[in-house]
Amino acid sequence: MRFPVPLSCRIRPQLPREKIEGCHICTFVTPAEPQVILGKDKAFTYDYVFDMDTQQDSIYANCTEKLIEGCFEGYNATVFAYGQTGSGKTYTMGTGFDVSIEDHELGIIPRAVSHLFKGIEERQQAASEQGRPIPEFKINAQFLELYNEEVLDLFDSTRDIDMMQCLKLGALSRTTASTQMNVQSSRSHAIFTIHLCQVRVCAPDSQDGELDNRMANGSSEMNEFETLTAKFHFVDLAGSERLKRTGATGERAKEGISINCGLLALGNVISALGDRSKRATHVPYRDSKLTRLLQDSLGGNSQTVMIACISPSDRDFMETLNTLKYANRAR
Ligand code: ADP
Ligand code: MG
Repeated sequence: MRFPVPLSCRIRPQLPREKIEGCHICTFVTPAEPQVILGKDKAFTYDYVFDMDTQQDSIYANCTEKLIEGCFEGYNATVFAYGQTGSGKTYTMGTGFDVSIEDHELGIIPRAVSHLFKGIEERQQAASEQGRPIPEFKINAQFLELYNEEVLDLFDSTRDIDMMQCLKLGALSRTTASTQMNVQSSRSHAIFTIHLCQVRVCAPDSQDGELDNRMANGSSEMNEFETLTAKFHFVDLAGSERLKRTGATGERAKEGISINCGLLALGNVISALGDRSKRATHVPYRDSKLTRLLQDSLGGNSQTVMIACISPSDRDFMETLNTLKYANRAR
């Protein structure tokens, strides 16, 4: 049986600084297998392993594309990026909204947004060509930061954007970019959420002739409409690095504790979802704000993907090992 939460591991390329400083690469991907070997012999197998040269489009195609299609059928979805600070979470998610970024470097979020708009256009066009009532869509987006178990609202498009043409990818990115500057991304969870609401006709191909007649009469019973809603969360998790024993006092320590509390609770929830015996009894959503917030998008009818991001360099060996173990524990 396939694990309910597909787990991927992405190894970022070495950064120029790591090369200059002579760091060695300590991660090896087993050819033709989704397995990463850390150091000599620590092997971990996931659903996907993406080596250093993997491009953004391929991450999107493997980890997110199908989930967006599911949103059109009313399924919620969540994509997590997990890993230590500097391992490539923000690069992978595209939460940075760097304006000068080239197309091929765009991360998961901007790709998902374009995909969503394209999907809407296609569905409306198909309906129009077939003379069916045109489905209506509403989209809104929200950007939250979770810091010390507190929620900060960075951006909220509560105004319903009537029909999606108004919400252009560029505008969305810019609004979010100004707030993102202030985010202490290593210490907080950044949650970008898209709500999709769709009103469409049920069973569009039944009783064609009758449908046309009823439409002409303007009868209120002519069509049965259904409303589908879906939520898509993109979560750029706080850095998973352990707090150094020194210096972890006062505010810092409190910070570290609540961040770890979220990551710990998330690990427990994902692990419980994967364990059929536990799933039936208890999934510990209520143990942290993070898991409470995401509760209706984890498990049940929703689709969840976790991407563990790691550095290839030997100086990050211990944190990389922790990340690989965390992801592994989730199975
Ligand atoms: P995190 O969000 O986990 O702290 P970042 O996404 O900010 O890490 O990545 C750290 C650095 O590595 C950034 O300069 C980023 O541009 C670079 N980087 C990360 N992943 C890749 C990648 N796959 N290809 C090229 N550069 C990357
Ligand atoms: Mg980051």
